[in-house]
This record gives sequence, structure tokens and C-alpha cells, in this order.
Amino acid sequence: MREVEVARVEEAVRRLFLKMNCHMLPDVRTSLEKAREEEVSELGRSVLEDLLQNARIAADEEVPLCQDCGMAVVFLEVGQEVAFTGGSLREAVDGGVRRAYAEGCLRKSVVCDPLFDRKNSGDNTPAIVHFDVVPGDKVRLLATAKGMGSENMSALAMMRAADGPEGVRDFVVETVRRGGANACPPIIVGVGIGGNFETAPLLAKKALLRPLGVRNGDVRYARLEGELLERINGLGIGPAGYGGTTTVLAVQVEFAATHIAGMPVAVNICCHACRHGEIVL
Ligand code: SF4
Repeated sequence: MREVEVARVEEAVRRLFLKMNCHMLPDVRTSLEKAREEEVSELGRSVLEDLLQNARIAADEEVPLCQDCGMAVVFLEVGQEVAFTGGSLREAVDGGVRRAYAEGCLRKSVVCDPLFDRKNSGDNTPAIVHFDVVPGDKVRLLATAKGMGSENMSALAMMRAADGPEGVRDFVVETVRRGGANACPPIIVGVGIGGNFETAPLLAKKALLRPLGVRNGDVRYARLEGELLERINGLGIGPAGYGGTTTVLAVQVEFAATHIAGMPVAVNICCHACRHGEIVL
């Protein structure tokens, strides 16, 4: 067994959230720059320039890209030959989030009780953590600071197999048509197809963590991504919802096996402040 101290996990989580909150991902920046060149709306181009300028200032001054510093979501892929030492793995993840949000003066947005007192936990914990056991002796951390404005515009449909690709396309496009302007566009759309009621949204969230422009390895799903991109950009929502040809920077689809009687489809929307990162220990 390979021993990994949980303190290393805590430090990796701390570093990831400090960096992602202040530094726009290079692929997102490149995509925004390309959109600025191609956007037909003058107002849209000016919004895109503002977003790029905002990203430059955030990086130069080490301040957050957005005032909503998101809810911390961590996917932990743990090699089955790893033994953690030095404490609780779950607490180490929360410890990393707590330190990052305190040190970076990042906004703490988590309330402990969702319905009644809605009291802020004060340190942006607990993080949402998904554990997966994989072969090997490494630990892979995939983390995202997910803004709620775009999360609120996301949706799940328990579709029928008979709805087919056209039904999926309509559902995804309609979800963006209804909520895209409120999701701080230009957006990134993650789509999860298959699994069941709880796993389709996880597929959609993981789809958001893929580098922009990397298409699904299955040519049928890659084609679906391209078709959705075109239809969504045809909606005319545009940057910040002011109209234009740039509503979505990328549509990324993940799929998984499902039951013969169903076809869950989840749409997870992410705003232009698409913040995520990865560390392998
Ligand atoms: S949805 Fe994104 S850009 Fe909009 S307020 Fe939330 S984090 Fe910021």
C-alpha cells in the first residue's frame, strides 16, 4: 500500500480553490477571445471584452473572478492501493476549502440548513465530495467552485428511450432558452445522458470539467455536441443576455449505461466564470 497523508489532500484542495477563484482557465480565456472576434453584436463584443479585462485584473491583483466564489465540489478518485494516514479524509477536504476561502478573502456562500434558518456556515464548508475507488496508487482531485446562478438554471428530465436524440436536443436547448440569460452567459453546458436519477447530473457536472474544445471520444456524441452548440448559439441570448451569437462556449456530453425502460438526461449549466482544477497526488 502507498501511504498518503491527509494533510497533502488538504493542501492540494487549498491550492486548487485559491487558484481557480482568481485565475481564469486558459481554455476559457482563449474561447472568450475567439468569441470576441466572432460576435456580431457590438454590445456583445463589449461584454466579452469586459469579461476578459475582469479576468486580467483578477489575475494581476489575486482577487476573485466573481463575487460568488461558488460552492466547493470535489471529485476524489482514490487508487485502491492507497492508505490515508493522519486523520479523516473528509475533514481534510473541508479543511482545504476552509483555509482557501479564509486566506483568499473568498465569499462564503454555504448555509447549513437549506429550508429554515439558512445560517451561513461561515467558511464555505461543507464541501460536496464524491468518492470513487479506482485501480492504482494515485489520488486524483478534480475540484470546481460552482456558482449557483448557473446551477439554478440546470435541469433533469427522466426521458423515455423513444424520445431519442431529437428529444434530448429539444430538452437541452429548451433548458438554455428558459434560463440561459440568468446563468451569466456565455455559458458552458454539461450534459449527462444515461445512468439513473442521481448519476445523470453527476455525468453532466463531470462533463463541465473537461477542457473546452475537447469533444466526446464517441463520434455520435461528438456530433451531438456540435449540433447543440449550433442550436444554442442560434437562440440569440448572447453575452450577459444582451443578444448576440455567443450564448454558449462549449457543449460537453458524457454518457453511461442505463436501464432499458428509461433515459435520464441532465443539463448542468456553468457560467463564464468556469472555475475548476485538478491535482494528482
Ligand atoms: S453564475 Fe457565475 S458569473 Fe454569475 S454570479 Fe454566479 S459565479 Fe458569478
